[in-house]
Amino acid sequence: MVLSAALLRAGWRVSLYSDRTPEDHLGDRGRPTACLFGDQVEYEAELGLDFWPEASRMRRIHLDLFTDDGAVAFSVDAPLRKPALAVDQRLKFSSGLREVEARGAEVVIGTVGLDDLDRLAASHDLVVVTAGHKSLRGLFERDDARSVHTAPQRKLFMINVHGYDLAARPEHREGVFSFLPGTIEVFWIPFHDKDAGESRSIVVEVAPGGKADRFGDVTSADEGLDVLKGIVDELLPHESAFLRPARPTSPVTWIKGEITPVVRKPVGVLPSGRHVLGLGDAVVLNDPLAGQGANNATRMARFFADELTRHGGPFTASWLTERFDRWWERGHYASDFSNGLLAPLTDAQKEVMLAASRREDIAEQLWEGFNDPSSLFPWFFEETATREFLARRDVGRLDVLRYKLGVGAGLLSQKLFRRPVGGTATT
Ligand SMILES: Cc1cc2nc3c(=O)[nH]c(=O)nc-3n(C[C@H](O)[C@H](O)[C@H](O)COP(=O)(O)OP(=O)(O)OC[C@H]3O[C@@H](n4cnc5c(N)ncnc54)[C@H](O)[C@@H]3O)c2cc1C
Repeated sequence: MVLSAALLRAGWRVSLYSDRTPEDHLGDRGRPTACLFGDQVEYEAELGLDFWPEASRMRRIHLDLFTDDGAVAFSVDAPLRKPALAVDQRLKFSSGLREVEARGAEVVIGTVGLDDLDRLAASHDLVVVTAGHKSLRGLFERDDARSVHTAPQRKLFMINVHGYDLAARPEHREGVFSFLPGTIEVFWIPFHDKDAGESRSIVVEVAPGGKADRFGDVTSADEGLDVLKGIVDELLPHESAFLRPARPTSPVTWIKGEITPVVRKPVGVLPSGRHVLGLGDAVVLNDPLAGQGANNATRMARFFADELTRHGGPFTASWLTERFDRWWERGHYASDFSNGLLAPLTDAQKEVMLAASRREDIAEQLWEGFNDPSSLFPWFFEETATREFLARRDVGRLDVLRYKLGVGAGLLSQKLFRRPVGGTATT
């Protein structure tokens, strides 16, 4: 949709092939949270695809780092430099289809197969496949050099809820992340749901075989939410009061599954020898831990709309591969960020998080990584660069020690007085 709107704006003739009508999208199961961060929100708005001014923007993120006994070791709380936005993709896809058609795109409904692609490749300057990661499998070859994993690193559960108790946890007016390292990460995202409007989309990532790996038998939204409430009571009790009264926004707004992150070669060759370009999840598929998939799809659409327009054609396989390599020079940071978060935090990263719990400027810089993952490199992922980064901000080893002692004292006071800390950052 984004690529179509961008190409139409640049003067191309566009045909969009979709397996669903706008009405089908509205009647569909719930789709992933797909929270977009600042630059991508702005780009879609610039293309005139922001139809939900009433949807709550996420302007801050509050992260709690839990210990195994349910205490909050420390919290990081800071604004995002630009607001993020999560709108139900059923609404976005349905409105987007109608909108690009109204702007002159030919919209053709029907599932596209390999034969169709061959026919379309013969009659168009370029065919771009953005069919996600479940369809047309095998068309784009795995790129072993760029792929890190061969198996899922997390089990996923997502549910959209309303009826939660905001008064119990005002932090939930904005985004909240709850991490119990090695066991579970929960993302509570302000969400504009097709039916319920203002709601929260909760994305749960659990370590396979770990204490929170309990969604395997879930077959409905209600069951899934009950399982989640049990896990929260036991492992993240800080969130119990907020979640207890919550209800699913509908029986279909939930997902469970797992993803094997993979990077594929961007040009697929059809049986006839003709070729197509792949974008989005069809080519770069990440675990949603860092919330990069939909952001990446929009980044790619933006990059290629500009490149195709500048070049004008012909779009040979080698030109497309070369342009994708160019995109990857920055694009790899989203995959590196996603894969980096899937790994256990290093000591240096823990020190950054600790510093961020005391210094809003550091926390803000950390959150900017969701919008622009390249901004986290090398300082969040290479130890020497981390130390330099902290030193430049006047955070020395003694300060880190002081922060650690503060965390120890906070945990002790929670134990003694059964009082959660979860304080916000101070500068
Ligand atoms: C639980 C969860 C939470 C997530 N949260 C985030 C997040 O917060 N932020 C983020 O950036 N990403 C997130 N993601 C990832 C994000 O949803 C995807 O990366 C993104 O939607 C990919 O966009 P896409 O356009 O490549 O593919 P899709 O969104 O999958 O769209 C593909 C489209 O093609 C259509 N289609 C498929 N096959 C065919 C066919 N053969 N013929 C015609 N049409 C076809 C489909 O109907 C669909 O409309 C999350 C993922 C999960 C699982």
